[in-house]
Amino acid sequence: MAEQFADVYVHHDRLQRAQDELGRQGIDALVVGPSPDLFYLTGYPGHLSERMSLLVLPREGDPTYVVGRLEAPTLADRRDLLDVRAWEETERPADVVAGLVGAAGGTSVAVGDRVWSVFLLALQEAMPGARWVPATPVLRTLRMIKDGREIELMQEVARRTDEAWEEFVVRPIAGLTEREALDRLVGLTTARGLGPGFADCGSGPHSASPHHDSGDRVIRPGDAVVFDWGGTLEGYFSDVTRTVHVGEPDEEFRRVYDLVLRANQAALEAVRPGIPCEAIDLAARALIEEEGYGAAFIHRVGHGLGLDVHEEPYLVSGNTMPLQSGMVFSDEPGIYLDGRFGVRIEDAVLCTDTGGERLNEATRELTIVG
Ligand code: ZN
Ligand code: ZN
Ligand code: ZN
Repeated sequence: MAEQFADVYVHHDRLQRAQDELGRQGIDALVVGPSPDLFYLTGYPGHLSERMSLLVLPREGDPTYVVGRLEAPTLADRRDLLDVRAWEETERPADVVAGLVGAAGGTSVAVGDRVWSVFLLALQEAMPGARWVPATPVLRTLRMIKDGREIELMQEVARRTDEAWEEFVVRPIAGLTEREALDRLVGLTTARGLGPGFADCGSGPHSASPHHDSGDRVIRPGDAVVFDWGGTLEGYFSDVTRTVHVGEPDEEFRRVYDLVLRANQAALEAVRPGIPCEAIDLAARALIEEEGYGAAFIHRVGHGLGLDVHEEPYLVSGNTMPLQSGMVFSDEPGIYLDGRFGVRIEDAVLCTDTGGERLNEATRELTIVG
């Protein structure tokens, strides 16, 4: 019971802060459907289907969840937090939402990034005078800064993912396909109680492609192999990358590996509150450019991590947003040599008052496997 009360309290507070932010930004209402945004605000995952299902949060007043009659019972444990407005099959849900928003001419409505276009089009028709803006600029100010409970979950999901790696990497992988190797790694991850996340493995020349789709290629001696995967704990993601070499690597692989490792460390050391996001990217990039591999570091150094694998803040050149204590993001420099090999080393990092703190501690030393 106490647990449930605490949970309602957390979400009540988040809804309140979202309303404060609407006020600050001069927006009249927020509308979000089933998505990490909804889960963050209410603890209700929602269910995506052709039946419109939306949270309506006015700048002032009570939040209402608009949902088809059939699904309304799934909100039974949220009644202390939300009014529930169940619509009948004969009603137009967009009209219900319009009634709640009270759409007069010039009303501004922030709409969640993942509200399907079919719903947004119906809402726009029902509220012809409204002005539509994206919800992310409202919600990122909340979601970017993790509270104590969120940080605990992210530390724990990272720790269990690291454990899976330590168990995985002591056994040979030569002779397995990328898919088979990944299945083993994912199995070790879910065996630790983590929910499904994502997983990617690129071996040999495939390792030079950062978002390669794992397949039937057989891993063999002489390959660099990049594993990038994560699981979830109560919705929060881990996101780790480790690169191993099957058998003795040549001199260039060792040099590139060492450079990526130093870039990962340089980015970590640059983290502190107040420093612009782009400075973290630059810290890693400057080092890699100095050694002549700048053109092979083809992506930003990191992205925010939480209820989404990729979320704000993005650590990319041009993003001058200052880091704040409580932000969690990836630190993942990489070097990709087309047709030959790639190296990426990725950890999740928490920005604290005194600097960056890694959430992942799975070994980063060059690991040679069989
Ligand atoms: Zn990615
Ligand atoms: Zn990753
Ligand atoms: Zn990542």
